[in-house]
Amino acid sequence: MLDVLVDQILLHRGFYDESGSPRLTTGTIVFGVLLRSLLTVIAGFAIWHYAGVEISVPVSLALLWGYVVYPAYRQYVVYNEHTEHVHEELLCSRCRHFNASGQHCLLFDEHVRPDYIPCDGLDWDPL
Ligand code: SF4
Repeated sequence: MLDVLVDQILLHRGFYDESGSPRLTTGTIVFGVLLRSLLTVIAGFAIWHYAGVEISVPVSLALLWGYVVYPAYRQYVVYNEHTEHVHEELLCSRCRHFNASGQHCLLFDEHVRPDYIPCDGLDWDPL
């Protein structure tokens, strides 16, 4: 959970993290939007307090676009491209144990990657 928090605050790039788990799922993208929106609101109030509303509003709008909306859009594009790639290439995408939104095998409770299939194909159960 902490790694998702840090990834979303710092907007780390790359689909996979150091442990090989996907950084981007629909859940982490939505979580990132909510988290960065909260930080933007807090920053907006802080700027309002110290610099006034005439500075706070444009800075908050710029932060909302540059730190919340556009990064979420880019994350969604990367997530979609990767998901399409996985659906075309991986055996798991045609298995009933596969959770597509989380890129996750429900049977082994592990993330699936193009270079790693948790069951090595032995438990593949076609849809
Ligand atoms: S059971 Fe095997 S083939 Fe099916 S999703 Fe899990 S790892 Fe992939």
